[in-house]
Amino acid sequence: MIYFDHAATTAVKPQVLEAMLPYFSENYGNASSIYTIGQQSRAAVEAAREQVASALSCLPREVYFTAGGSESDNWAIKGAAFANRKKGNHIITSCIEHHAVLHTCQYLEKQGFEVTYLPVNEYGEVSVEDVKNAIREDTILITIMFANNEIGTIQPISEIGKIAAEHKILFHTDAVQAVGAVPINVKEMGIDMLSLSAHKFGGPKGIGALYIRGGVRVDNLVHGGAQERNKRAGTENLAGIVGLGKAIELATADITTKSEKIAAMRDYIMNGILTKIPYTRLNGHPTNRLCGNVNISFEFIEGEGMLLLLDMNGIAASSGSACTSGSLDPSHVLLAIGLPHGIAHGSLRISLGEENTMEDADRLLEILPGIIDRLRQMSPLYEEVERGE
Ligand SMILES: *Cc1c(COP(=O)(O)O)cnc(C)c1O
Repeated sequence: MIYFDHAATTAVKPQVLEAMLPYFSENYGNASSIYTIGQQSRAAVEAAREQVASALSCLPREVYFTAGGSESDNWAIKGAAFANRKKGNHIITSCIEHHAVLHTCQYLEKQGFEVTYLPVNEYGEVSVEDVKNAIREDTILITIMFANNEIGTIQPISEIGKIAAEHKILFHTDAVQAVGAVPINVKEMGIDMLSLSAHKFGGPKGIGALYIRGGVRVDNLVHGGAQERNKRAGTENLAGIVGLGKAIELATADITTKSEKIAAMRDYIMNGILTKIPYTRLNGHPTNRLCGNVNISFEFIEGEGMLLLLDMNGIAASSGSACTSGSLDPSHVLLAIGLPHGIAHGSLRISLGEENTMEDADRLLEILPGIIDRLRQMSPLYEEVERGE
């Protein structure tokens, strides 16, 4: 099988699994207990916190473990909204965020908050000018994703961070797709809160973290015990935390070399598809995009059919985000960059990872034209176009 769906999830790296294994049935102590195996667990949790902090260039005590990207997004946004309710009730976000952000904002609207959903340009970029113009007296939070999970576009995070700081407004970014692909320094970039998720960069599922800059007040999302310095209740997911620490250390080491290698494969696939197959268009920015993201629309095609035929040829890819496949609505991201419904339906996302090779890329380029041709032969619209009607 050739796996081209790293934006949906990744395999746990062998070194990560190896680091985690002792923490299931040997070193299983509760990190909050005072006896030796409890204290060993505590040390492992704190070592992982340092690994995350060093990957983001923040302090260990600014890192809080959560159950993944969705929880981190929910916590950052609801936590900041409820903690700052007296200051104001306006939030700025973009219309291409992950549903973990969009649905949280929609929930907050029901609670009386006002949300501005900024548009994006044809490449999926948020305009810094638009952010500036959307700021009001009562704006308490700006939440803009670092990089988009469907089309890979990277946002002007440092510029937005600067504007947020000038206006003393909190700035959160969903960096779930960016960690391990783009170098991140939360201090230099003016980020107050950042969400990440281990399973997107070689760690296990169900574990993530939220960076909260020291001094930033956010209400708790999960209430209960005193874990995570009283901010996030629940017995620590020990093995998961150890796995997250190891995975982020590996993912952020030699990040420039690795991402350049992956970007070369990305460009090879992108150019290969766009030149070999007619009636195609690239979604997202041609260069300002995640090193592993290719997203291309094929006219006269249904995405689902394309995915099934690719799967029959041993290639796993996606037609949008995993959450939207299975539903008939076209992706909100593709609609936001101006694709008509029909074309948005025929989109293919190839997301590359470290273990992909140029042979994988060649195999895709060998298989795909035939698949597209076969599907187009079944399209009455395509037939008309071919006959020149
Ligand atoms: C995958 C993803 C999430 C959700 O993370 P989970 O750990 O799966 O909850 C949030 N935002 C983005 C951009 C993602 O790609």
